[in-house]
Amino acid sequence: MSPPDLFDTHAHLHFPDFAGDLPDVLARARAAGVSRMVTIGTDVATSQAAIDIAGREADVWAAVGIHPHDAAAADDAAVAEIARLARAPRVVAVGEIGLDFFRNLSPRDVQERVFRRLLALGREARKPVLIHCRDAHEDVLRILAQEMVAESGGIMHCFSGDTAIARRCLDLGLLISLAGPVTYPNARALPEVARFVPADRLVIETDCPFLPPQGHRGQRNEPAYLALTAVRVAELRGEAMDALAARLTDNARALFKIP
Ligand SMILES: [Zn+2]
Ligand SMILES: [Zn+2]
Repeated sequence: MSPPDLFDTHAHLHFPDFAGDLPDVLARARAAGVSRMVTIGTDVATSQAAIDIAGREADVWAAVGIHPHDAAAADDAAVAEIARLARAPRVVAVGEIGLDFFRNLSPRDVQERVFRRLLALGREARKPVLIHCRDAHEDVLRILAQEMVAESGGIMHCFSGDTAIARRCLDLGLLISLAGPVTYPNARALPEVARFVPADRLVIETDCPFLPPQGHRGQRNEPAYLALTAVRVAELRGEAMDALAARLTDNARALFKIP
């Protein structure tokens, strides 16, 4: 049986966690059916590193952005550099960007200012935005509406809300991305969200090296494990895994304009 056709919409392949064995990680991903991956920058240096990997690997694309954790270090020069990198070949999105009021590694007002500037950049560059949101749904949704996110489109990455929040994200024109936590026994509202989101608005991701699915918890996550999340989402929706995987891959390819 051939493997399903999977698209990992959110990975951090350029992180040091993979420095020792990236060729093996990519080989396992391909063997598991992961035919396309987007590797996501979190500041200027990692955005450049993401572009470098995408330049070497035909099935990897890049996103450039400044994570809310890194917002405090993002001066005007850093934002200008992200704007420049956003125009590089194989850059398919601006991200990840957003608000993280769980860890608060950058002051909240600084997070919001950087988030708004990078949403504007996504609009200007006509690239979809990849949104990180932790314990900040009301603020993120308010800012996304004010900044007219529908013009660029994007993904609510590693979705952690309930169906009411999902509804509001869909109304803003965003796709919803489910990650490893949907496979956890204590997945809270996520199984309901997996059933709720229309098939043409859903994608999946690993967010590797973080958030390994059930069965690999406590280990480094990697794109090959995306199949476990896909199996769980298909089970929750009562759909055949291969058909669902193909559909989710189509959604991601359309958003990122990847052939
Ligand atoms: Zn994130
Ligand atoms: Zn991430």
